[in-house]
This record gives sequence, structure tokens and C-alpha cells, in this order.
Amino acid sequence: MPQKKKVIPIRAITKPEPQPRRQYDCSKCPGYCCSYPLIEVGKRDIARLARHFGVSYEHAQKNYFKFDRGAKVWSLRRKKDEHFGQICRFFDTDKRRCTVYEARPGVCRDYPEASKCGYYEFLRFERSHQQDPEFVATT
Ligand code: SF4
Ligand code: SF4
Repeated sequence: MPQKKKVIPIRAITKPEPQPRRQYDCSKCPGYCCSYPLIEVGKRDIARLARHFGVSYEHAQKNYFKFDRGAKVWSLRRKKDEHFGQICRFFDTDKRRCTVYEARPGVCRDYPEASKCGYYEFLRFERSHQQDPEFVATT
């Protein structure tokens, strides 16, 4: 009787898709996307920030987020900002950067979902137009 051949599974060797080069630099941006009036979060985002600060889910939800009755979603609380009027409470308004980068919500991770950021294009244009690399253009 012929011996049964051992079947060796063949796995497709797939190379990861090359990611398009990022054409924006958040470190040079005053944080337009962090000034959105409503930055929606989910339970996982709240839980992640609760873990980050070592507080309970309830504490994080109450202190870092607010429920938007119109949109019926939880969103990041905001604070005053000299450029945009209001900005995310986790934004460092002196250094112009996120203070919870590792624990930031999913929506912040995904934005701008492309190799280009429209805000950054706008900023670059305005800075070149004003011949001022520090200029903060408001929309
Ligand atoms: S607006 Fe664009 S460039 Fe500016 S911080 Fe957000 S993602 Fe970065
Ligand atoms: S959590 Fe960080 S990245 Fe997200 S809006 Fe706030 S400051 Fe910006």
C-alpha cells in the first residue's frame, strides 16, 4: 500500500503593502485636528485613557470626556486655546502637541487617513505666503 504523503501547507508569502510616504509633519503644526469641536470616542478609548492614568473607567469618563446630547456620542473634553478658541484638554498649548500620544483615542490615530493632511497643506501655503515659518493660520 502506498504511503500517505505528508501534506505541507503552503502559506502565501505576502510582502506588506508599501505605505505612501507621509507628507505632513505634526511637530510643525499647531494642532488643527485637535481643535475639532467634537472628537468622538468609544469605550475602548475611555478604557485606554483610564489605564494610562491609573484611574477607574468611571473617573476617566467623567473627567476626560463629555456626552454630546445632539450627536449622542462621547467626546474629548476641551479647554481654552489662544489660536482656535478651544482645543482638546490633552493638548499641550505651549508645546503644541498631544500629552497622551501613546494612549490617544483611535480617531486621533487614524487621522488624516491619507499621506497628505489638508490642514498641513493649508498651513504650508499660508506660511510660505506670509514668509513666516511660525505663522499660525486659522481656518
Ligand atoms: S492637522 Fe494634520 S499635520 Fe496638524 S497635527 Fe493634525 S494630522 Fe498633524
Ligand atoms: S488626544 Fe491627543 S491627538 Fe487626540 S485630540 Fe487630544 S491632543 Fe489631539
